[in-house]
Amino acid sequence: MNVPFIDFSEQYNTVKDNINSGLQAVFQKGNFILGEEEKNFEQDFATFCDAKYAVGVNSGTDALYLALSALDIKAGDEVILPAHTFIATALCISYTGAKPVLVDIEDQTYNLDPNKLEEAISDKTRAIIPVHLYGQPANMDEIRAVAKKHNVAVIEDACQAHGAKYKGTRVGSLGDIGCFSFYPTKSLGAFGDGGIVVTNREDVYKKVLMLRDYGRKNRYDHQIKGYNSRLDTVQAVVLAEKLKYLDQWNEMRYKAGLYYKEQLKDVEGVTAPVIKDDRTHVFQTFAIRVQNRDQVLEEMKGKGVGVLIHYPIPIHLQEAYQELGYTKGDFPVSEQVADTILSLPMFPHISQEQIRYVCQVLSESVKQLSGV
Ligand SMILES: *Cc1c(COP(=O)(O)O)cnc(C)c1O
Repeated sequence: MNVPFIDFSEQYNTVKDNINSGLQAVFQKGNFILGEEEKNFEQDFATFCDAKYAVGVNSGTDALYLALSALDIKAGDEVILPAHTFIATALCISYTGAKPVLVDIEDQTYNLDPNKLEEAISDKTRAIIPVHLYGQPANMDEIRAVAKKHNVAVIEDACQAHGAKYKGTRVGSLGDIGCFSFYPTKSLGAFGDGGIVVTNREDVYKKVLMLRDYGRKNRYDHQIKGYNSRLDTVQAVVLAEKLKYLDQWNEMRYKAGLYYKEQLKDVEGVTAPVIKDDRTHVFQTFAIRVQNRDQVLEEMKGKGVGVLIHYPIPIHLQEAYQELGYTKGDFPVSEQVADTILSLPMFPHISQEQIRYVCQVLSESVKQLSGV
């Protein structure tokens, strides 16, 4: 049997006809940039996130960068983020000239550890970026409490958690600003690059609207030095159609996640994801921890199972971030997770038979490598 890491063909069959007709209409009208379909999608997505405003941009990375820029974060400032995340969470800070300051993660959720947050705050700190990694929200109450105490902003990196809830509220509206990616493999994926900034703050909304469109207030009046970072109308058509199914698809991922956990509960040497009971996990990624990870990965690939690592190198050990002056040992949980984490196949339509096969192959590889 072959189980690919992701297979969106069933999803595509569901939305294909409506997407085709929606795209035909855009092709006919030619309103490729900031067409009404794009504006409608922004409204739909804001509503989906329990938020007032949303601004479509050209990637999740740009969503984060424009969010920081909207708060006027710049050289001399510091922004806090977890050490275990995708590199883009750090890059967007560097683009502003501010300094990324790292904090270790929790052993159970793989998200920023609020207990280690306060010691990272200085008088230069302007914002905290919690990442809702793999689809489970970070511990937002404690993070917001520290942010409030020190008067710094909270920008959610929700690029892996579209639709997840924390204490009943959707991610994206849990801080000052929420940022999402529509990279094709995310839970809500475009047919290319895309992203969106979500907020309840009118000042942020107005600023991001200008920042993504050359800094202009109207056609000829440029108030700030903005960028060209818009969500294409064509992508908005695709996303609007898929958004209708997002809750349903997240539920399917969740059920697949529970089935995985059930299958793995007696497999020794494998740590399955922990789901906190005050939040939902939308399983953008189903990540386990396992000893001899690199050999297990090769064994599984050899038996037709698509597996990946998110992520093998924490930010402070990346060559691009040597300038920050961190060394090995500074963030022990992140380092331990980076050495043992392994992402198994996960997509809404994965079957129980496929999951059983993945778990069987995993369990055999683990036994064989541990010499049992
Ligand atoms: C995907 C991702 C990003 C970047 O999004 P792009 O659309 O690829 O630019 C940022 N942060 C996290 C956690 C991501 O998973």
